[in-house]
Amino acid sequence: MSGVAHPRRSNAPHVNADRLWSRHMELARVGVVEEVGNCRLALSDEDGTVRDMFAGWCREAGLTLRSDRAGNMFALRAGRDPSRAVVAAGSHLDTQPHGGRFDGISGVLAALEAIEALNDAGIETEAPLAVINWTNEEGVRFAPGLLGSAWFAGRIADETLDNIVSADGARFADEVARIGWRGDMLPVDLTLDSFFELHIEQGPVLERAGAQVGVVTSVQGLRWLDVAITGRDSHAGTTPLDLRKDALLAAGAILVALRRTGLAAGPDARVSVGRLATATDGPSTIVGHADLVIDIRHPDQGALDRLARDCAEACCTAAAEFDCEAEVSERFAIPPQLFDRDCVALVETAARALDLDYLRLPSGALHDAANIAALTPTAMVFVPCRDGISHNVQEYAAPEDLAAGADVLLHAMLERAGIVSRPDGQG
Ligand SMILES: [Zn+2]
Repeated sequence: MSGVAHPRRSNAPHVNADRLWSRHMELARVGVVEEVGNCRLALSDEDGTVRDMFAGWCREAGLTLRSDRAGNMFALRAGRDPSRAVVAAGSHLDTQPHGGRFDGISGVLAALEAIEALNDAGIETEAPLAVINWTNEEGVRFAPGLLGSAWFAGRIADETLDNIVSADGARFADEVARIGWRGDMLPVDLTLDSFFELHIEQGPVLERAGAQVGVVTSVQGLRWLDVAITGRDSHAGTTPLDLRKDALLAAGAILVALRRTGLAAGPDARVSVGRLATATDGPSTIVGHADLVIDIRHPDQGALDRLARDCAEACCTAAAEFDCEAEVSERFAIPPQLFDRDCVALVETAARALDLDYLRLPSGALHDAANIAALTPTAMVFVPCRDGISHNVQEYAAPEDLAAGADVLLHAMLERAGIVSRPDGQG
């Protein structure tokens, strides 16, 4: 028999906010940069140190540790029914070179804290549970990012994974072994029932809405468009303004037109240009050619495709206004990843039952959960971060928000795993 504890009932388990926060601060003492930030690139000595600290806490909590070829770490808690698939949660412990104390780390620690809360409350689950640390999410030292989860999801071959060489000349497989986390577990050894990832939002939406928890519905899709703008090189002194074909001016008009196009597509649309290069670079030469890349994102595939088409049209129209031509081609596209309806509903139900102000929203950034969603029902919990700042040493999430998010994670996992009823009828 299994029953589910209502989170508002007094006997429902809650995470320990102090323990969760102090573990964040303990890990933050490893690889300190600029006093409040962290640099712990994947498979570096610093990454090895925090992995060992995390492993120590897992063992103290009675969990069994395993790892795989990619160095992904799995801390397992048995369920009453060993035939049941595993309800897992986690994120990543590696950081950006000037990273914060919460990006990824919060998701691993919240998952561990959820299990600590069950231990404290003496709750056994029907299904086994797992806390996962995915290797090299950030993709700084080894490219691409989301590497451990991509390999686990079968998107990268063993040989390819092993032989990826870092910017500092180290081979991936050698570095996994060097820090002691190359294991023999295979993805087929872990049958997942579901996966939940808590992560800081890395954007300002929750904070602006005054919401304590984000119920993440999807990871938005992405399309990159290359735009080549062709005009004519000419002399800045001799060419009258109305006879120019100024590709840089056309690029400027394109930037403004793209912003308008993005705004017209609604609040979920993102249109950005972060790279603009001119073929010539002289104060007295009218630019004859410029290239830019448009980064377009939207959680809905149809809307993403319409937005990309509108952006391409806007480029051609704006370029023509200045007697230039714009040629648009696609560099690559990643489709939106919708999270599992049932898992998303569990996260939302938990947030509501805990009386938390929450918001449903798509994820603006890519996460390991997007890879794992291809394998098993998956959902994410967002926690607000101050001013929406991330990939920055100033990144900050409040202890009470982290605890609220971890409680949501705990109750979503519990609903999925089922509580073993105690003989006295509790639970
Ligand atoms: Zn992250």
